[in-house]
Amino acid sequence: MPKTALETRGLTKAFGGFRAVRGLDLKVQRHTIHALIGPNGAGKTTVFNLLTKVHVPTEGQILYEGADITRDSSASIARRGLVRSFQISAIFPNLSVRDNVRVALQRRLGTQFQFWRSGRSLAVLDEEARRLLSEVGLSEAADARAADLSYGRKRTLEIATTLALDPPFLLLDEPTQGMAIEDVDRIKRLIRRIAKGRTILMVEHNMSVVADLCDTITVLQRGEILAEGAYAAVSADPAVKAAYLGG
Ligand code: ADP
Repeated sequence: MPKTALETRGLTKAFGGFRAVRGLDLKVQRHTIHALIGPNGAGKTTVFNLLTKVHVPTEGQILYEGADITRDSSASIARRGLVRSFQISAIFPNLSVRDNVRVALQRRLGTQFQFWRSGRSLAVLDEEARRLLSEVGLSEAADARAADLSYGRKRTLEIATTLALDPPFLLLDEPTQGMAIEDVDRIKRLIRRIAKGRTILMVEHNMSVVADLCDTITVLQRGEILAEGAYAAVSADPAVKAAYLGG
């Protein structure tokens, strides 16, 4: 198997005459945590939208585990195991925390014939739901209505529903955005735990999260790579400092 999990080659997205992403060559190595950072308007969200097929690339290629997925649908990309997370909109507010996880588990297990044949489908869903809630630290909130959770816990529940799909590659959209400090620490620990055996690409503004978690950082500016490498090198780079100070 190739070491690179995800690769873009000359990835470009133009909105009318404006190129938000310009010839991006990005490589995300398997089983690493990789951050995409950069000032507002650098093109980070557009890259995520290209990877998950919210947008169609104007030019360039996207490869996942060596396969060209440039023309795949978003559903087919998710089936391959490339899953975008941290969208609270993915939670059912009126269901309990446990039922949210059960629904997500059923999306994966429900497609397996053996699961229904076993005669233990509901018991298996319950066991798996209990295991996942314990993994993310939401066991004691299992019976709460999802809508009643704090913001930080809603995001944690969203992680649990994503993990229910057991994706090998996770795209995390600003996982700590808007969180209180204690929630940030909890999410950091959780990301470190779920990164085992997985590849993670995240957009994150909180530099302490990036510094503590990420193996590789790609800094974007005006749709292009400004710098790339480990946190210490990237954060000391004068061009990176200037980009952030310049806004
Ligand atoms: P970031 O996530 O790094 O803040 P974005 O990817 O959201 O940056 O935006 C990059 C640039 O592309 C910005 O100048 C933004 O205004 C522009 N842009 C993003 N989406 C669209 C769109 N749908 N139509 C036109 N311009 C867009």
